[in-house]
Amino acid sequence: MTSPSKPALRLRVTAAAEKAARAGHPWIFGDSVREQNRDGQPGELAILYDRRDRFLAIGFFDPDSPIRVRILHAGEPETIDASWLNARIAAAFARRETMFDASTTGYRCANGESDGLPGLVADRYAGTVAVKLYTTAWLPWIGRLVFPNPNVTRTVLRLSRNIQRAAAERFHFRDGQILAGADVREPVVFLENGLRFECDPLRGQKTGFFLDQRENRQAVRRLASGLDLLNVFSFSGGFSLSSAAGGASSALSLDISEHALAAARRNFALNAEIAAVAQCRHETVQADAFEWLKEKANRKFGLAVLDPPSLAKRESEKEEALLAYGRLAAAALARLGPDGVLVACSCSAHVRAPEFFAAVRDAARKSGRAYEEIQTTGHAPDHAATFPEGEYLKAIYMRVR
Ligand code: SAH
Repeated sequence: MTSPSKPALRLRVTAAAEKAARAGHPWIFGDSVREQNRDGQPGELAILYDRRDRFLAIGFFDPDSPIRVRILHAGEPETIDASWLNARIAAAFARRETMFDASTTGYRCANGESDGLPGLVADRYAGTVAVKLYTTAWLPWIGRLVFPNPNVTRTVLRLSRNIQRAAAERFHFRDGQILAGADVREPVVFLENGLRFECDPLRGQKTGFFLDQRENRQAVRRLASGLDLLNVFSFSGGFSLSSAAGGASSALSLDISEHALAAARRNFALNAEIAAVAQCRHETVQADAFEWLKEKANRKFGLAVLDPPSLAKRESEKEEALLAYGRLAAAALARLGPDGVLVACSCSAHVRAPEFFAAVRDAARKSGRAYEEIQTTGHAPDHAATFPEGEYLKAIYMRVR
């Protein structure tokens, strides 16, 4: 949104950033900017020129973020306006149209940079879509954007914590604001593979639910028959309920948040008409998982899921995180009975998949028990990632003798 009186915002960047942009990388960091013709406002379109003064790329300027420009388009010059952005959003939504059948009404409709929509995700929960922004650059445009899903009647705005203040002061938007449709008076209920889950799209973590784990929950459901599940970092009991539906004898949901565990109990109640769920003994334990796992215990489980929050928020925390993943895996393996299955997940983008898998395998070797690997998994199709920093989720499944 360039005002008519101002010249276009023009930037030149380092050779390395130029190369990365040409190769399709979506971010230009502030310290890669070599020249800028004037100050820019959040959401202004910044035009990048290469060393020979040719058009390189165009993207959203964000003076407050270390990611100074989020590239919308690279290559030949193009004019970007609200209808251009809406076409991108529509394309992202359209890609999901055939991914799920009616038994799944919770999924990601737009996955940020990986859908050419840098800093914006949109998650559908039945009739509600939660649009979450990671940069204020979208806010000057938001009133003109359309999030097209025929089943959706409500649009909720979510703001990442680091932009909430700027969003309020400069743009008068707040986290949890309803952009379109009726107010939300009670939890939104949606379906995941036929199971009913509640979520709070106004206040919940991320956009209210960890939709990215759907395929892993489904895989665990297939493994769970007759087993006792230990679900560590359970949040609202997604893996517990999926295991119950798959015939688990019992499920223990462990989380530090009583609020999350209360939701887990309600999610079991929501599905009580499913015989397998009704027959599964569900127990919730509020505890710090790292402490709880250290305690000595005789009780053994047939299946353990570890799904901690990101343990490396920055690159410098990576080594410490790898050690923590190893310790968690070792402690969970110690709680598994004969032929027990461990499902260990990591959502830290700074920890690459091979390093994470190596840490878990190392814990298995050190346990002294023979083990076989069942599978490793990555991103679900609605969360597909097209650049390295966008790839964060990985899981490894193994059975120990
Ligand atoms: N597996 C879940 C998502 C887990 S998100 C699902 O399928 O939906 C991570 C969870 O870890 C959050 O619910 C958070 O409350 C919990 N958590 C964070 N730190 C913790 C700790 N030290 N001990 C136990 N739980 C913790």
